Amino acid sequence: MTGSPLPPATRTEALSRLARFLPHAGRDYAARRNHDLPGHPHVSGLSPFLRHRLLTEAEVLEAVLGRHSLQAAEKFVQEVVWRTYWKGWLELRPAVWSDYRDGLDRALSDGRMADRLAAAEAGATGIDGFDAWIAELVETGYLHNHARMWLASIWIFTLRLPWEAGADFFLRHLLDGDPASNTLSWRWVAGLQTPGKHYLARADNIARYTDGRFSPKGLFTDAAPLSGPPHPPRGPVPGGDTPAPGMRTGILLTEEDLAPGFLLPLPGPAPVGHAVLLSAAGRSPRPVAEGVLGFTAAAARDAADRWADRLGPRGPVADDPAAVVDWAVAEGIDQIVTPYAPVGPAATALARLDRRLSREGIRLVRVLRDYDRTAWPHATHGFFRFKERIPEIVAGLQAER
Ligand SMILES: Cc1cc2nc3c(=O)[nH]c(=O)nc-3n(C[C@H](O)[C@H](O)[C@H](O)COP(=O)(O)OP(=O)(O)OC[C@H]3O[C@@H](n4cnc5c(N)ncnc54)[C@H](O)[C@@H]3O)c2cc1C
Repeated sequence: MTGSPLPPATRTEALSRLARFLPHAGRDYAARRNHDLPGHPHVSGLSPFLRHRLLTEAEVLEAVLGRHSLQAAEKFVQEVVWRTYWKGWLELRPAVWSDYRDGLDRALSDGRMADRLAAAEAGATGIDGFDAWIAELVETGYLHNHARMWLASIWIFTLRLPWEAGADFFLRHLLDGDPASNTLSWRWVAGLQTPGKHYLARADNIARYTDGRFSPKGLFTDAAPLSGPPHPPRGPVPGGDTPAPGMRTGILLTEEDLAPGFLLPLPGPAPVGHAVLLSAAGRSPRPVAEGVLGFTAAAARDAADRWADRLGPRGPVADDPAAVVDWAVAEGIDQIVTPYAPVGPAATALARLDRRLSREGIRLVRVLRDYDRTAWPHATHGFFRFKERIPEIVAGLQAER
């Protein structure tokens, strides 16, 4: 491959990855998905696209279940649904995200570990595998799931670095960097998500699933799980808003959901225009990788271009809510309709926007998708209970179209 190691941030690329992967989504995936081999031949590589909903979970599940039985594709369906579960779990307990950000601030201000943190982030630890995964992540914006687990485990239990700093490093470099999947997966490796159960990377497992490419020495394999406060109590399930009929309406896209078709038709006149509010820079208090910022902005432009004829003229593509307010005022917009953004920087940016819009008497309407509405309320306990709901989630897919 020549040129940029980052994939094009387009729906066309997502669809071609899906088409290539479809024949392998059944028993092949179940048998070989844990092997981390160059080029990642046994997994879909769809996460950067699912992350921004250039392709939706519903579309991927429908395509896979159009080709394989639920039984044959059970493993793959479960993985896609893990993403949904993490989203729902965090949505019911948003304090876990703010606690993570507080913990990150504390970790970054602790000067005693600055040198060790810098060495880990530079991939200069001398640990076989670890340094290569850091380099791969920085260069390509992607890591195989097993490499993410090994890296996170070595970060926490062998290098003894704060898990929040590792989660932040991932969020700043992963094209699929996601507040729910990332934070909760790091917590799971650490033993905080399922209290008392942690994931310890072992050299023999790494050698086996990397085809002998890596076999690190000196991993700390009998560390105790981290401990932390109990999970915060569950909050209410979000219901989302409903657009009011007969108003001058603008559409707003965010990086959380670049498939605005479910917002249409509006209950009234067609949209007077659309804008994009970017928020990827808010993933971290530290600078987010250029590749991530570029991918996210390009993904948003791809969606806005494809939907331009149905969303009306293009307004600002900005990371400053003030630009969206100015546009809405200039266009005489009464309400801005946007996909509901789950916990994370986009939701924070929308909350800021909402405060400014309400000063101008403009309503911000956050519409929840049926897929999320169906699934999230079930993220009350562990994944094993959640996955019992897969038939119900899958049955609702037709209705989503
Ligand atoms: C420490 C750690 C951090 C992670 N951070 C992120 C993150 O920021 N964003 C992210 O999307 N995933 C994250 N994951 C989950 C998982 O590693 C990636 O979703 C997966 O590797 C993406 O590659 P793929 O698309 O080829 O996956 P496939 O195996 O082809 O799976 C298909 C889709 O299912 C979903 N999926 C698969 N595995 C998981 C999983 N374990 N948890 C949640 N969803 C899953 C993804 O949307 C993925 O695109 C993390 C896992 C770990 C252990």
